[in-house]
Amino acid sequence: MATIEVIERSFYAKVLEATPEGERLRLCLECGNCSGICPFGYLMLYPPSRMIAMLRADRFDQLLETDTVWMCVSCYACTAACPSKVPLTPGLMASIKEELLLAGNVPDELQAALQNSQRYGNPQGESPRKRADWTLGIQPEVKLLAKVKQPVDVLWFVGDYASYHPRVQLATKALARVLNALGVDFGILGPEEWSDGDSQRLAGERGLFEVLAEKNGKAFGKYQFNRIITTDPHAYNAIKNEYPALGISYPVQHYTEFLAERMDQLKPLLKQEVKVKATYHDPCYLGRANGIFEQPRALLQAIPGMELVEMTHNHMNSLCCGGGGGGMWLDGFQWEKAHVRLSEWRVREAISAGAEFLAVACPYETPRFEDAAKTVQGAGELKVRDIAELLAESMGV
Ligand code: SF4
Ligand code: SF4
Repeated sequence: MATIEVIERSFYAKVLEATPEGERLRLCLECGNCSGICPFGYLMLYPPSRMIAMLRADRFDQLLETDTVWMCVSCYACTAACPSKVPLTPGLMASIKEELLLAGNVPDELQAALQNSQRYGNPQGESPRKRADWTLGIQPEVKLLAKVKQPVDVLWFVGDYASYHPRVQLATKALARVLNALGVDFGILGPEEWSDGDSQRLAGERGLFEVLAEKNGKAFGKYQFNRIITTDPHAYNAIKNEYPALGISYPVQHYTEFLAERMDQLKPLLKQEVKVKATYHDPCYLGRANGIFEQPRALLQAIPGMELVEMTHNHMNSLCCGGGGGGMWLDGFQWEKAHVRLSEWRVREAISAGAEFLAVACPYETPRFEDAAKTVQGAGELKVRDIAELLAESMGV
């Protein structure tokens, strides 16, 4: 009995440490809503509700013997569906993954991304010196804060995929041109920026998350600015909800929020028609986790000629692209288990909605959906565009 209590206490303590609402785990009704709504719940040996039942039955050790927990893409669907408001995604799921990491039960591809994050400050293993290479050729020049040594209104936290991924760089450059056209006084950290660490945290590497957050916090502290904007909803989530507990507090907005606030200034610049039927994919960490649903839609609706249609799953009920919580680094593992990709489900929904364009607002999504569109029947004509790209096109910049 003593052992049961020790195991329970230590695990509960870890959940509590991960989130201030962790104590709510005790309020679970075992209704099964969380497991039912989980996109990969049917493949998990212990989906969330079963996991809690196992914990209550003192069969915690058995949870560590299965690797199907790694099917969790931290999409927040279970957390949103829970009548007892148990913080399943940031609490239970992240804590279980932390235990799996400690037990050495971790897929190789995830381990490589975590090692890269530790060594290079980004999961792709790219050179930190090349973080600002995407800015070459942009006019007016993107200010590197270490170089210009002057205060700016906005510190743009660009993020890993937006900085390094060749496809996503196109959207990053588009956003730089949109900000320039609006006359926004912004600068970037470039080589001083580190991974925001949020996906590493949700994949169970809280220690690594804290190291990365502290490095970013130190860089923020060197410069004068009024607010941070992020390209990546995961970075937005980290800086808004997680960094303050580490003493790193700054006003932060996702770029769609920032631009939607400047609609009066933006609208007259949207001169060219983009005559297409578009649908918008709510990223989990913008929508479900942080309640930002309308600003991205308002931006799309401001584009002349664009017709916005909704997919079956939208807003709070949106479907994950499969990239969150380490999913970006577990594609091989998940394919082996599921033989299906969440991004393909989403592309099918976009086609069923009659959309010609699938609009996104997260750097994980352009490459994921473009890849999926190559393999889904009938998706050959579907174009995937970041909202920043669509705005830039309408502005002619
Ligand atoms: S949805 Fe909430 S209350 Fe229901 S089983 Fe899951 S954790 Fe428990
Ligand atoms: S966060 Fe998403 S993938 Fe993970 S257990 Fe919950 S519903 Fe399933």
